[in-house]
Amino acid sequence: MIPNNIPPVTGKELEYIAQVVSGGALGEGGPFSKRCQHWLEERLHGSKVFLTPSCTAALELAALSLDLDPGDEVIVPSYTFMSTANAFLLRGASLVYVDINPGTMNIDPVKVREAITLKTRAIVPVHYAGVPCDMDAIFEAIGSRKDIYIVEDAAQGLFSFDRNGKALGSIGNLGCLSFGGAKNLTSGGAGGAIIVNDKKLIDRVETIRDKGTNRPQFLRGEVGHYTWQRAGVSHVLTEIQSAYLWAQLECADEIQSHRLRIWELYRQALVPLVGERLELPPICLQGQHNAHIFFVKLKNKEESVQFTSAMQDKGISVSAHYSPLHRSVPGSHGRHVLHPQDYTSTESERLIRLPLFYAMTKAQADYVIEQVKHYFA
Ligand SMILES: *Cc1c(COP(=O)(O)O)cnc(C)c1O
Repeated sequence: MIPNNIPPVTGKELEYIAQVVSGGALGEGGPFSKRCQHWLEERLHGSKVFLTPSCTAALELAALSLDLDPGDEVIVPSYTFMSTANAFLLRGASLVYVDINPGTMNIDPVKVREAITLKTRAIVPVHYAGVPCDMDAIFEAIGSRKDIYIVEDAAQGLFSFDRNGKALGSIGNLGCLSFGGAKNLTSGGAGGAIIVNDKKLIDRVETIRDKGTNRPQFLRGEVGHYTWQRAGVSHVLTEIQSAYLWAQLECADEIQSHRLRIWELYRQALVPLVGERLELPPICLQGQHNAHIFFVKLKNKEESVQFTSAMQDKGISVSAHYSPLHRSVPGSHGRHVLHPQDYTSTESERLIRLPLFYAMTKAQADYVIEQVKHYFA
């Protein structure tokens, strides 16, 4: 069986974890977490980065940092992971679920503009499959409104760049990354980071993340002892997880080039089949993508169910992705801003992800291609 994903392993993970164990300093803020943080800050062009236990936690930290009031509105795409919405729902915000652009599967800026009201406090663009949202159009939609924050859900976006060359996650006021087991890199099954691009938010995020204390200042020797400053959480990554992540960041370029190679193999082999029964992901004209996902779109739901079981029979694990949030129970209470066609529903039913992972061999990719071609023959 060719699985849909295998989390990457680079070979250095155990060695680095052993160093942490024998060194005895398990708490956060150790040498591996500092290395990861600085590496990410460099790749993200100098934005401030804090490691978190997950992207879900990073999104929660973002929502906490915005000091939302009940009734404040937060705009999210309906086509996303529930964590995008949960973070803001937990803070009492009113969620507004916006339709996607069927070409990119990303939030449609035209609908964002329509969804904005005087109560809008945040917009959360999700860069699906590591394909950049049209951030310029989203900034245009908010115009001169200084009271609207942009929080990028860049869980899938590390190593992608927008058309201006900016790293995903480094464009909005805040950005959130994931190092969960299904992402391109992992810190051992769970992990994430919050990227703070808005200088006004750095101190707030740092304090809230560390139990609402000024412990970070204490660790830098800026204060003699640390105290409780405001309500906060403990959204830190352990040194063991950071050691795991460092083993992966060191090999990031290798992991990325392998993923991109398989993505291109798929694309080149399947392009001739594009037609009424098959669509492929967009070539990233708007920037550079990171080969996080290679999906195919079948004609309709029935075809995607059929395709999934046909691949299963050939020993290939393919999988659908998000169900529309606006059609879920919690999502039904929010406001919905959709195209008459409801692209979130129609497109999510047709989308199937092919296997794509670091340990995947060319022979495996060729076998998948052969079976997909056979299905459409
Ligand atoms: C994976 C993912 C998350 C959640 O990330 P975790 O690190 O697992 O909490 C959030 N949003 C999107 C778009 C994701 O793909």
